[in-house]
Amino acid sequence: MARSDVTGFFSDTPTAASTLSLRSLQSAVFWLDDPARPAAMAPLGGRIVCDLLVVGGGFSGLWSALLAKEADPGRDVVLLEASRIADAATGRNGGFVSPSLTHGIRNGAQRWPADLGTLLRLGHENLDAIEATIARLGIDCDFRRSGEITVAVQDYQVGELREAAQCAAGYGEAVDFLDGERMRARVHSASYLGASTDQAVALVNPARLAWGLLEACQASGVRVFEHSPVLGLTDDGSEVTATTAQGRVVARRVAVATNAFPAIVRQAAKYVVPVYDYVLMTEPLSVGQWSSIGWHGREGIGDAGNQFHYYRPTADGRILWGGYDAVYHRG
Ligand SMILES: Cc1cc2nc3c(=O)[nH]c(=O)nc-3n(C[C@H](O)[C@H](O)[C@H](O)COP(=O)(O)OP(=O)(O)OC[C@H]3O[C@@H](n4cnc5c(N)ncnc54)[C@H](O)[C@@H]3O)c2cc1C
Repeated sequence: MARSDVTGFFSDTPTAASTLSLRSLQSAVFWLDDPARPAAMAPLGGRIVCDLLVVGGGFSGLWSALLAKEADPGRDVVLLEASRIADAATGRNGGFVSPSLTHGIRNGAQRWPADLGTLLRLGHENLDAIEATIARLGIDCDFRRSGEITVAVQDYQVGELREAAQCAAGYGEAVDFLDGERMRARVHSASYLGASTDQAVALVNPARLAWGLLEACQASGVRVFEHSPVLGLTDDGSEVTATTAQGRVVARRVAVATNAFPAIVRQAAKYVVPVYDYVLMTEPLSVGQWSSIGWHGREGIGDAGNQFHYYRPTADGRILWGGYDAVYHRG
């Protein structure tokens, strides 16, 4: 297909073909719609006391609870989740696990040039530790270091990607630049004008990872309550009391891991801007469809736009698509 034939790819107006392909669309959360989803846990009832209260059962809350327990097994840890574990962004994301702490090396080089070497090292150590923890705990979450390809789909992005790859190479990163021809030979889209590849990035089934962390938390003695939104926190200087509809937790310390939800610590509210995004999952592709695309490395792919699309294969041969929109509802 000539490049001029694919400009519809970037259009905001659906074509007849894309409307037709969405006809049998079902609205569901793919990763959470899984027989491996753990049974619901009871809400908090009554008053309990603990050393550390974690509020929020996404990745931040689960890792916090687990690390706190592993650092001190005698520490009494309680986790309160407003809904179900991993029900929010943690169970609905693209599953790209990147070592980058700076959202890309060019951004890091522009904002923190003096610290970039340290940030890169810490990012790799962090991802290595995630991988090691998944292996140690035996979490079955399809974690694979399949790498990520960032593709140029506009002319100006080709030079940017080449520059980013050179910058990365200067720091010893496993990043390569591919010209358009080499990229299209790997994944057969006429829209690709060039690419950079980062071999360190992993893909994961995020819900399975979260549920594995939950299991590890519970095995180490963390008490977890679902359907227990914290309605308020009061701090008397030595202890914090968290109130829910049917109970309260008195804790020496609290870790707030509520992400973009309304802040329960008032001072944090001004730093939170919740934006919404959409993800689509295809049905499983046939062998013929996969071979027509190429994509033998099954990498995660994203384009180099400021508002970008990203897509990745799943273990059962689908493609997850996301990105571009960042919808903000004022207030
Ligand atoms: C569509 C999409 C795609 C993404 N793709 C990627 C990706 O590919 N790679 C990547 O690295 N990141 C990605 N992200 C971002 C990533 O998913 C989040 O950064 C991550 O999941 C945040 O985890 P968290 O635990 O901080 O927050 P969340 O998962 O949002 O969890 C917060 C939890 O706190 C609970 N909560 C809120 N208020 C209360 C309360 N008062 N009391 C009790 N509980 C409360 C909520 O119910 C929720 O379960 C994506 C995000 C989205 C939305």
